[in-house]
Amino acid sequence: MSKLQQKASKDAGMQTMLTHYGDETFHGAVIPPIFMNTLFTYDTYEAFRDSQWKEENYYYSRVSNPTVEIAERKLAALENGEAAKLFASGMAAVSSTLLHCLRQGDHVVCAFPIYNGTFQMLKNYLPKFGITADFVDFRQLDLVRAAIKPNTKMLFCEGFSTFFMDVFDIQAVVEIARENELITVMDNTCATPATLKPLEWGIDIVIHSASKYLCGHSDVTAGAVISSQAWINGIKKNEVALIGATLAPLEAWMLIRGLKTFGIRMKQHAESATQIAKMLSSHPKVSRVNLPTLEHHEQHELAKKQFTGNPGLFSFEMHGGAAAVARLMNRLQYFKIGVSWGGFESLVYSPGLGIDPAQQSRTEYESRLERTVRLSIGLEDMEDLMADLINALDDEQD
Ligand SMILES: *Cc1c(COP(=O)(O)O)cnc(C)c1O
Repeated sequence: MSKLQQKASKDAGMQTMLTHYGDETFHGAVIPPIFMNTLFTYDTYEAFRDSQWKEENYYYSRVSNPTVEIAERKLAALENGEAAKLFASGMAAVSSTLLHCLRQGDHVVCAFPIYNGTFQMLKNYLPKFGITADFVDFRQLDLVRAAIKPNTKMLFCEGFSTFFMDVFDIQAVVEIARENELITVMDNTCATPATLKPLEWGIDIVIHSASKYLCGHSDVTAGAVISSQAWINGIKKNEVALIGATLAPLEAWMLIRGLKTFGIRMKQHAESATQIAKMLSSHPKVSRVNLPTLEHHEQHELAKKQFTGNPGLFSFEMHGGAAAVARLMNRLQYFKIGVSWGGFESLVYSPGLGIDPAQQSRTEYESRLERTVRLSIGLEDMEDLMADLINALDDEQD
């Protein structure tokens, strides 16, 4: 693809860009090849020597690979960033980013709730290198300000919070970060660039678990980081090369394949999720639906300002607590019980499953986790999903 064509399709609509931008063509093949090789050879000593100083430089696939780079160009364009780097998982992207930005003695102010892997990394793993974190509810800006210390380097957050889908004022948090010269990192896995582009709000670094909506087929584990070219060059030279949690070419190729339908998948996920969430909001067994883009939600105005739509993920809370949740989950037919989300298939999970059943008492927060049901609305016919839920809720024992 010529430079001119690349530029044109980069600025096209999302689905057009994902179809045409970033793909090298080989013999006019409509699908790019999988460069399934560990190394690249050179004809001469001089060719190898000179290649090291070129922007496009392939010599070893731990660091760079043409198939992986096609996916990276698409992801950078999708988030409206300068450059992207892929990793072997979302957690590899999270941990490499933290290790790249932080050093001994640094402090992070992290949103809570946050994805559990990120929470464990910041709370239990990084302290062994002298890096500490405090966790606060980013809906309360005073708490964010109060948590900042002289050694704070970073604010870490998610567009929608894990499990409860709470949102916070991104613009205000970016302002706080700028006043205090802090790096802002947003995990945009849940909202996806179909509903939120954090770099356009002034966030410095965007992270994805590409295992979710970006791949969309529940068959690839991958992670991505998107930021400025200079920042991506830095992480490539350090954490990518030295820790080596690299995405394999086959997985990158499968990600490219998944991305070609990202826009239309997200439209269907959003439409079905919105209809199902509305149905649940008026169901007598449901005490609350956690989806701030819905009108009844107390954060509706803020959500409407920040997000251009819904993902297919949300949760709701049931009268009757854990027992009612268990009965519902056991009665569902199409919604399989499982972690993760963002694939073609519908899934159900309760964050209460993370609580040790031997534990005697529950905090208020733990009780909320137990009465919460998280749904990942897949691409099945919406009528079937709706009927499945209504049937499962209509439980004679209640
Ligand atoms: C799944 C997930 C991750 C971790 O990604 P993996 O690909 O499973 O390593 C990180 N953040 C969020 C919000 C996630 O949902």
